[in-house]
Amino acid sequence: MNSCDILLTNASVLTMDDDFHDFTPGVVAVTGDRIVAVGVAALASEYTAAQQMDCGGQVLMPGLINAHTHAPMTLLRGLADDLRLDVWLLGYMMPVEREFVSPDFVRLGTSLACAEMIRSGVTTFADMYYFEAAVAEAAAAAGMRALCGQTVLKFPTPDAGSFEDSLAAAREFIQAWKGHPLIVPAVSPHAPYTCTPEILQACSALAVEFDVPLHTHLSETLLEVENSRREHGMPVVPWVKKQSLLEAKVLAAHCVHMDEGELRTLHNAGAGIAHNPSSNLKLASGVAPVVQMLQVGLNVGIGTDGPASNNDLDMFAEMHLAAILAKGISGDPTALPARQALAMATRQGARALHLGDVSGSLEPGKRADLILVDLSPLHNSPAFRHDPNGLYGQIVYAAKSTDVRSVMCNGRWLMQDRRLLTLDDANLVLAAGDYARRIDTFLIQREESVLQKLVAIGGAVEAESFEVQLKVKLSTDAPVLEALAGQELRVIRTVHYHEYDTYFLFDDAEQGRVRFREDEFVSAAGAVTQVRTRLTLTGPRREREYGLVLLSRSRFMAPAVQTLRFYREYFKPSAEREIEKDRRRWLVAFEGEEFFVNLDRVIKPALPGLYLEIKARTWSRRDAEDKAGLITQLLALLGASAGTTVREEYVELAAVTGD
Ligand SMILES: [Zn+2]
Repeated sequence: MNSCDILLTNASVLTMDDDFHDFTPGVVAVTGDRIVAVGVAALASEYTAAQQMDCGGQVLMPGLINAHTHAPMTLLRGLADDLRLDVWLLGYMMPVEREFVSPDFVRLGTSLACAEMIRSGVTTFADMYYFEAAVAEAAAAAGMRALCGQTVLKFPTPDAGSFEDSLAAAREFIQAWKGHPLIVPAVSPHAPYTCTPEILQACSALAVEFDVPLHTHLSETLLEVENSRREHGMPVVPWVKKQSLLEAKVLAAHCVHMDEGELRTLHNAGAGIAHNPSSNLKLASGVAPVVQMLQVGLNVGIGTDGPASNNDLDMFAEMHLAAILAKGISGDPTALPARQALAMATRQGARALHLGDVSGSLEPGKRADLILVDLSPLHNSPAFRHDPNGLYGQIVYAAKSTDVRSVMCNGRWLMQDRRLLTLDDANLVLAAGDYARRIDTFLIQREESVLQKLVAIGGAVEAESFEVQLKVKLSTDAPVLEALAGQELRVIRTVHYHEYDTYFLFDDAEQGRVRFREDEFVSAAGAVTQVRTRLTLTGPRREREYGLVLLSRSRFMAPAVQTLRFYREYFKPSAEREIEKDRRRWLVAFEGEEFFVNLDRVIKPALPGLYLEIKARTWSRRDAEDKAGLITQLLALLGASAGTTVREEYVELAAVTGD
């Protein structure tokens, strides 16, 4: 007679082992944190147990593996929906994260996520976030198994001022948690496009040094792949391979846009994949080639991705979607059958996390990570058993996460009869509500100010500069060119470019205007040699006039690192105006000061004649006042008549902008 701690009897046991053994009725024996026996009902007579439980015919199967998530983002669930990935991430998630994410935020968000995941039958999740030690603490306190990846990015993050800091934090985190019974520490370079080659190399080296997994995002969008081809001359997988990334035990989320060669490269490297169908559909990233991945032999798990992009952590829903989506896009209803989908959510998921010898199936020697699912509710009825796959179909196509009654992880009950044993649902909901109110206040204030919105995505501080300028209309450039060639001025530099300006206008004119400018530098031969994009927020109105000279204030100027489309969707202007100019510009020294002399031909809207603009930019109002007098003298020297002064920006623009 053998003894065990817990004997689970009278269950429909789905082992999800390599041969898909199932036992109805079956038993599972658990001692300590491990499964010691799995088999037919008769096995029960071989064991004496400290605790015996009659499962009442429920399905007993491995706990589900959520192969990719950002657990603390439960606190950002529903914050911003129906947006494009870049606007969603750079315009909302990252600015809010910079403001609010702290160890407290992460602990609470993870606890909330754990409660939700336990309720839906998840016993293991792969995470990637900031302050990952707080994720690990909360997961361990909840009794869940977790692969926790400390994020490393090329930008400053809520928990690190630089990539060196976050890499050091990752090392410290791995050292502190390696060997924990529930937590597998990992390093998470966020994605190739948010990391430099040095970061990818350093993260890989760190993962190899400690023999821990490396959890990252790869090829999530077509844009990412196109950019990789353009910048590196190759798609994403060969690029990261070149940076030694695949030398680590990789868990790669998404992999939506990959060719077969890339999938084979990942397979040869022993990488695991997390398929996130809800997130990929919601953000319109595409559909990962899951059937092809499985054919290549890759271990493909299923993940919910972060609750801010899904918006739930329901692995039953995710598994259901994975199975039907593969059929829908292939036009083949036999693609990704239920049994295979359930394997992805269990055994294959564990392997993708490099935890295949620990969890993912009910086999002696593995940890006791298991769940009981009640198939008696009417949405599961009736049950057919003529086909051995009927039970898998019932779980994947009909059952819901609310049918999970009991959950055990590492030999410890986390939920019994739908009552959580390690977490308090009501308190978590209250505390999450407090955060939501604070974040709401922050966003409402930000949305009221164009400047605040700009600062939020620029990652730059407000820089105020003053511009003194004078504009006149000319019918010919001859006198100006003659003066520029003369003795009284010294030309320091000459450039010729094409300017494409898009102005964003807002209902409240006090907000100012955002200008997106693309400059094409044109060589003497007429070829475009360089393109530069800049973003400027100009003050709502002129500050002061000095005779003919106008003093205006520019509150913010930065290189425009995103596309015009991004800024349009982020700022949501009430109207837009486009201006196209051919500009010749001279930087001249006059009376010991430097000025820009611009000669513009306005192409859009098509305006007759030429515009001469003299201006200087300074950082103080005092300086601006000094230069205002000199500008009028310079105008006379250039032979232009003050009688044709344009008092505002180009007349047409001024008209349309209401200045
Ligand atoms: Zn993700």
